[in-house]
Amino acid sequence: MSKQRNCKVCQEAVSKYKCPVCFTPYCSLPCYKLHKAQPCYKEEPLLPESPKIAQPLRPFEEGDDESGMRLPRSKLEAVVASDEIRHALKDERLQAIVRRIDSCLSPEKDLDDAMQVPEFREFADKILAVIDPERHSPSLLH
Ligand SMILES: [Zn+2]
Ligand SMILES: [Zn+2]
Repeated sequence: MSKQRNCKVCQEAVSKYKCPVCFTPYCSLPCYKLHKAQPCYKEEPLLPESPKIAQPLRPFEEGDDESGMRLPRSKLEAVVASDEIRHALKDERLQAIVRRIDSCLSPEKDLDDAMQVPEFREFADKILAVIDPERHSPSLLH
């Protein structure tokens, strides 16, 4: 004779149903509603350890000057207006690299990769030369 389980809510009646979420046995709709009055969770995790959800992209914060890469608008306009940079941006390979960095989840790592590409390094140097002609040196980009 199998042991019958009692409703976990009222502890009296024999349970006929189970909560679809936490599998708590209950006997009737009123008991189920009572059970549902409190939040319940899956008791047995389906995965031994759910993989960590990827960290959300850190948004660029206004005034975050730590990276030293934030530019005042005037500098950006100077970059955009620079013939040399416009010309460089016509290079399809460079476009592909820039686009990849733009859409990449880890821009810093990708920037490192991109800096291994001579064309991109040259391009970055050109931008820096426009932004900061006086202090310009390749080491500014780490
Ligand atoms: Zn009950
Ligand atoms: Zn439940």
